[in-house]
Amino acid sequence: MQKIYLMLACAAGIVVGGCQSKPSEKELIKPVFSAEDMDLSVNPGDNFYKYANGGWMKQHPLPDDKSRFGSFDLLAEQSKEKVKTIIEKAAAEKGAEGTLAQKIGDFYNSGMDIEAVNKAGYAPIQALLNQIDAIDSKAEVVTLISLLQKQQLTPLFYFYASADQKNSEMTIAGIYQSGLGMPDRDYYLNDDDASVKLREAYIAYLTKLFTLSGSAEDVAGSLAQSTMAFETRLAKASNTRLQNRDPHATYNKVSVDELALMAPAFPWVAYLEGIEVPAPGDINVSQPAFIKEVANMYETESMDSWKAFLSSVVLRKTASYLSDDFVNANFAFYGEALSGQKAMEPRWKRVLDTTSGALGEAVGQLFVAEYFPPAAKQRMDKLVENLRIAFGQRIDQLDWMSDETKLAAHEKLAAIRVKIGYPDKWRDYSALEITADSYLSNVLASNRFDFKHDMSKIGQPVDKEEWHMTPQTVNAYYSPVGNEVVFPAAILQPPFFYLDGDDAVNYGAIGVVIGHEMTHGFDDQGRLYGKDGNLETWWTEDDSERFNTKTKVLVDQFNQIEVLPGTFADGELSLGENIADLGGLAISYQAYQNAKKDKSEIAQIDGFTDEQRFFLGYSRVWAQNIRDKEILRRTKTDVHSLGINRVNGPLPNIEEFYAAFNISDKAPIYIAPVDRASIW
Ligand SMILES: [Zn+2]
Repeated sequence: MQKIYLMLACAAGIVVGGCQSKPSEKELIKPVFSAEDMDLSVNPGDNFYKYANGGWMKQHPLPDDKSRFGSFDLLAEQSKEKVKTIIEKAAAEKGAEGTLAQKIGDFYNSGMDIEAVNKAGYAPIQALLNQIDAIDSKAEVVTLISLLQKQQLTPLFYFYASADQKNSEMTIAGIYQSGLGMPDRDYYLNDDDASVKLREAYIAYLTKLFTLSGSAEDVAGSLAQSTMAFETRLAKASNTRLQNRDPHATYNKVSVDELALMAPAFPWVAYLEGIEVPAPGDINVSQPAFIKEVANMYETESMDSWKAFLSSVVLRKTASYLSDDFVNANFAFYGEALSGQKAMEPRWKRVLDTTSGALGEAVGQLFVAEYFPPAAKQRMDKLVENLRIAFGQRIDQLDWMSDETKLAAHEKLAAIRVKIGYPDKWRDYSALEITADSYLSNVLASNRFDFKHDMSKIGQPVDKEEWHMTPQTVNAYYSPVGNEVVFPAAILQPPFFYLDGDDAVNYGAIGVVIGHEMTHGFDDQGRLYGKDGNLETWWTEDDSERFNTKTKVLVDQFNQIEVLPGTFADGELSLGENIADLGGLAISYQAYQNAKKDKSEIAQIDGFTDEQRFFLGYSRVWAQNIRDKEILRRTKTDVHSLGINRVNGPLPNIEEFYAAFNISDKAPIYIAPVDRASIW
């Protein structure tokens, strides 16, 4: 639960190992800027997103196995093809016992051996289910909670290690709300039609899982109802996503004794012994009200209700690694009902994602050796420094920030650490045992290995060299507590980054990504952290107030965007990301102006000026097709705006954008200067 700010959120689908990416089949990325991706029949002032991306959208219709498919996803797909080559080579090699090749190969093969997986049915979880069934005292409930936690089946809350937000050099333990099988508390509590239908689908899904694991139909039905009631209680006590965006409210550092006072009904000492962390020292409890309710539930919920819930957790979190009937039931809810996906991805892609997640840096080492040229790292280093300079210039120009705060902002900007491509030091997988025998056993072995690794960090100094994303991931992040920006190797590809490509497009695409990530250090949340990553105030009161007034404009603009008939974007929830997009554009535009100062005339490409290509390069990154159900799900859960709104939202706030495309003040997307948002 390290707090990081991504370029885009994880896709739909609940998996034990982290997020799945959303890929596709085609390889249509062109090496340079091309007008073929545009729809020149659309007037840029009517709908710039469509004008810039209409061609791409037509060329890339939504495949059945996707709920969203965009430029980002296409690149993720290409990264996946590369990972496939690596993994298949490892699988064919049959490396010596204990080598990375053996582990990667056996993990993948165990997942691809569908005959063995189907034959086993739910046998791989039978022992766990039996243990839950045999519970006959409350003390055994907590034993099982610990047992599941150690395998990262996370029944109620995450227990994790991360930097102390007020002493960023040290790692402490943390507790963070969890326990829900649906993506958010709203799904349990809202009364609209879509939510009611999804609750019905969720109960049907749980019933199916209980039936598949041996319960009679009517028993399965009541176990599902009981689980639903249990989770609804957790949902009511859960923070909203907006509440979780307040780092002060989610910072509640307590000792184990204080935790026992905060939530006395839960046997914390037994729990901590169960997860083999008997003396964690201080623990940050992100949502105290939630933990109090968990403790109340420990006391008041019946043994049967606990058993039903814990069994459902095991079933739900392992279903995608069991036989086809479990996998299909899992897809029917998480893929179809929640996201509108029409078909499942092919098995090799799902197994590949799991392997690549479980052995992330092992696969990553092979990935960068094969596919990441050192020249890309050098070019990126230069770009990042140019962006840093431009951001500094923008800070100097701000009319709303006091000189005192500007000084501190410069210090924070100068202190941002930059990680590009891959970690200098790779993770050691020697203690992880992987065999070709059982897919689920491998998944759980990897989960136990990760949990133990995480727990070993508690009480230790923070390892600044560690990465929280693998090199083969198409994404980027900013970590406020590390004050660092991170760009994995896989994002340094077209359409983000053209190694020898057009500067205008590079600044519009990867340049804005760099600026985007940097501004996260200064947005509504990032500004609450100082240059060393500690939660501390370094803005004057007046600056904070003026910043809030400025950002309110952006909140209001996004609140007015209708994403589907009757459903509006959430300007508060997406504020940090919208500030980052708008700020990233302003900063990278400035950096591009700096870069082209000494150049003579820059040629047009396909009839487009470099200024136009800057904005088109930016827009191209967000080209996507998406299903209505996925729009609904993301509007509730994703802090990032939809592709169309990442383009049509920020651009009309930028004066130079109108000039580049000759857009008049009569155009539908025009915003009058007094109504524009301008923060960085
Ligand atoms: Zn972001």
